[in-house]
Amino acid sequence: MFHISVQFTIEIYSPFQRCVNRGSPKAGIMRTMTIKVAINGYGTIGKRVADAVDAQDDMEIVGVTKTRPAFGCDLAVRKGYPLYCTFDDAERIASFADAGYICHGGLSDLLALADVVIDCSPGKVGASNKATYEQAGVKWIFQGGEAHEMTGMSYTSSANHMENMNVQGTRVVSCNTTGLSRTLVPLYDHCGELSVECTMIRRAADPGESNKGPINAIKPVLKVPSHHGPDVMTVKPEIKINSMAVAVPTTIMHVHVVTATLPEGHGLTTASILEMWSRSPRLVIMNGAETGITTTAEVMEFARDIGRKWGDLHEIFIWEDGVKLEGNTLYYFQAIHQESDVIPENVDAIRALMGVEGDWLVSVAKTDAAISKYNNL
Ligand code: NAD
Repeated sequence: MFHISVQFTIEIYSPFQRCVNRGSPKAGIMRTMTIKVAINGYGTIGKRVADAVDAQDDMEIVGVTKTRPAFGCDLAVRKGYPLYCTFDDAERIASFADAGYICHGGLSDLLALADVVIDCSPGKVGASNKATYEQAGVKWIFQGGEAHEMTGMSYTSSANHMENMNVQGTRVVSCNTTGLSRTLVPLYDHCGELSVECTMIRRAADPGESNKGPINAIKPVLKVPSHHGPDVMTVKPEIKINSMAVAVPTTIMHVHVVTATLPEGHGLTTASILEMWSRSPRLVIMNGAETGITTTAEVMEFARDIGRKWGDLHEIFIWEDGVKLEGNTLYYFQAIHQESDVIPENVDAIRALMGVEGDWLVSVAKTDAAISKYNNL
């Protein structure tokens, strides 16, 4: 059995593509109608969100920020995204020109052009930017490294798109919370009640990071429960869920070990749960024994074969032969590509905040189709 609930084709990246797009009728005629998006923090998440936004016909990137003229600036220049400094300090802005980059100004200059800013700064740093966004009068979206208490609102496409319609700001929940929501929300919607225990086996660092670990140890998160389960309740409070977590020496993917208790009379079977998930967006279901995809290494190789840039996998990967319903207890594993599952969610969140699409399924379909087309898939 092999289900993919999205369309895959092959991505061919051309550094010249932006030049073609910039001069296209889309860029010119649609300019006044599109949502203007600023990216504050052009790192692992920021550069991916920028491309996902650039792919859409109802929004455009008005600029991205870097703290200093470091190597990420080259990518922004190649993509044709106007480059701004994360800070308004004149000396820091001037340092970009000294390094040979055209810097269009500081964060305030960028915010003056934007309808919404996507804050992709490192975890817990974003909170210090909130007052600046409020002062500039732009809508704001933070990432999962920030606390729900700071934003007062959280978002994931499958759980609470409608509740985020027209709000001033929100937080796209973490990669793990997004992954849990993708499989648990459809189950909850069917059962009307759900109690979950899960363990997050977390990658120690992203592939591009050299300052994190462990590199030869298994590190339990000595906070019980870990934040992941309670975080699901910020977008779907009806799901009762607890989690524990361990970090392991890998850079590719998290794996979740999930045990869910379904209510009496749920009427589901293992096969019908797989069928339900196969109809839910952004999930991939594969049989490990049949495909030979039995570890996260093969999942990532599969993702690279699809051909999305950076080898990204926006979908949550479920092993069909790792799913079993025993009476009222459901057991399953799922794998999360930490750097990319939240990327399309940011695009859907923009549509919710700007009040342009109330149906999350319509937004998801539009987002994903545009990303595929953009990547020539
Ligand atoms: P990153 O370190 O790769 O990138 C952060 C970028 O923000 C860098 O370019 C950095 O220079 C810049 N920056 C530093 N200080 C800033 C400031 N004050 N204002 C604006 N930008 C600043 O981090 P990341 O992995 O992209 O994470 C960004 C956010 O996304 C965090 O909240 C993180 O928890 C969340 N997130 C990360 C992952 C992941 O796997 N990397 C997955 C889901 C969510």
